[in-house]
Amino acid sequence: MTKFIFVAGGVMSGIGKGIAVASIGKILKSKGFRVTAVKIDPYINVDAGTMNPIEHGEVFVTDDGVECDQDIGNYERFLDDNLSSNNYITTGRVYQAVINRERNLEYKGKCVEVVPDIPNEVISRIKKAAKKNRAEFVLIEIGGTVGEYQNMLFLEAARMLKLQRPLSVLFILVSYLPIPKTIGEMKTKPTQYAARTLNSAGIQPDIILARASVALDESRKTKISIFCNISKKDVISAPDIASIYEVPINFEKENLGNRILKKFNLTSQKNNLKDWKALVKIIEQVEKPVKIGIVGKYFETGKFTLIDSYISIIEAIKHACWFYKRKPEIHWLSSGNFEKNPQSLKELKNYDGIIVPGGFGNRGVEGKIKAIEFCRKQKIPFLGLCLGMQLAVIEFARNVCGLEKANSAEFSKNCKERVIDVMPEQKVLLKEKKYGGTMRLGSYKCELKKGTKTWNAYKQLNISERHRHRYELNNEFKDVLETNGMIMSGINPEKDLVEIIEIKDHVFFIATQFHPEFKSRPLRPHPLFREFIKVAVQH
Ligand code: GLN
Repeated sequence: MTKFIFVAGGVMSGIGKGIAVASIGKILKSKGFRVTAVKIDPYINVDAGTMNPIEHGEVFVTDDGVECDQDIGNYERFLDDNLSSNNYITTGRVYQAVINRERNLEYKGKCVEVVPDIPNEVISRIKKAAKKNRAEFVLIEIGGTVGEYQNMLFLEAARMLKLQRPLSVLFILVSYLPIPKTIGEMKTKPTQYAARTLNSAGIQPDIILARASVALDESRKTKISIFCNISKKDVISAPDIASIYEVPINFEKENLGNRILKKFNLTSQKNNLKDWKALVKIIEQVEKPVKIGIVGKYFETGKFTLIDSYISIIEAIKHACWFYKRKPEIHWLSSGNFEKNPQSLKELKNYDGIIVPGGFGNRGVEGKIKAIEFCRKQKIPFLGLCLGMQLAVIEFARNVCGLEKANSAEFSKNCKERVIDVMPEQKVLLKEKKYGGTMRLGSYKCELKKGTKTWNAYKQLNISERHRHRYELNNEFKDVLETNGMIMSGINPEKDLVEIIEIKDHVFFIATQFHPEFKSRPLRPHPLFREFIKVAVQH
């Protein structure tokens, strides 16, 4: 029977609950079990697609086109699996489903109540995820921190599932132990409170993952064991480490995998972490840097730099760098700065490669176009992603094809030279203000042109990649772009849409309408990122 492991967070957010879940999944998979992971986000938003990336971080996209939380990306990278709509639950999705069912009279005249109908819907979704993935273990990450009003119904669902299947449900609390500077000692009290808060929701944690800047000592473990009512062996020390990919190995040092199995009366002789350990070794040893600049705008928040909005791109760069045993060195270049101060474009020469990532809206667009022009002319390896491709087309149209006013309908609605335009079905959606979940989303087929640099990277003719955009290269301008030297190296056969462009006489100038970063895996870097980094290394 499927085993369910709920993971909740205590004390504060941002302590790596998602990575902990992904790592536990990795460990159980390495022991020969079929594992899947579900993310529960307690917000009302139906999906993450409508949220500002600066506030929420990257919007990850699955094959089946769900705009979801970045943790799903972590799960995919650690589990090396493609997840789907079934792996993502939000309060919005749950309530929407229950209300729709009520409207359809499916509750047969009953009064539909928050408890038990909402937790029941949550439970049925978790079971569905188990079934669809034929999982022996389902890890369920409950977003937020225990004690928050927002995630109470999900804890309630967890409690109710345990009641249904007492031997198949486990609770893990990921907590944080601060070491206040003025005291200089690691404090366990916030973790004790977090465990008590869980207790008051009817849940006793079975295992506590104790996040802290350093490893826990024996006396802290004893304290947590006594006050939180768990065996000392189930207090797992989880200190800060340099790379997230080390986390499964660290957990294993504390015997976490076997502790979990033991609680379910299971055993396994397998321990297939060899390749993963080899990768971690490379990560620790690489020295020679590859300097990659990302020209974006979703990282400036007040005095801080927030890189969460580009997390899959960062990971994809890292995977490719490690493949070549190089040290990834990623720099954030503000597109707005290139607008205000074109002199600063020269700085782009300091990088081995430049990426212009996806984005929405006018802000920073002209700066990105300037950066692309510089990369094209100075032959700096360039990779454009989604908006990055659209802007590369605009730049080429303006500066090579002589279409001075070329633009995208997103930025200039009535411009005549709309080299990037909105598709007819998208026009209707925009008019009706149907924004949520209506972009061109998820996996679509793409046929590559033989002999191109792109084909050379993939070494196959038919690929499929994940999308998230409303605008497309306007086929009316295909001829003029091609005549001037742009190569349409990937086409979606169903709708004849240009998915990939590259240009001749350049070391590496490739841009894609899709997001290759979503499919890069630590041990299987994405072909385009791999080629990009290969050329950057030579550069
Ligand atoms: N804003 C562009 C579009 O909607 C690009 C989107 C993106 O970069 N993900 O088509």
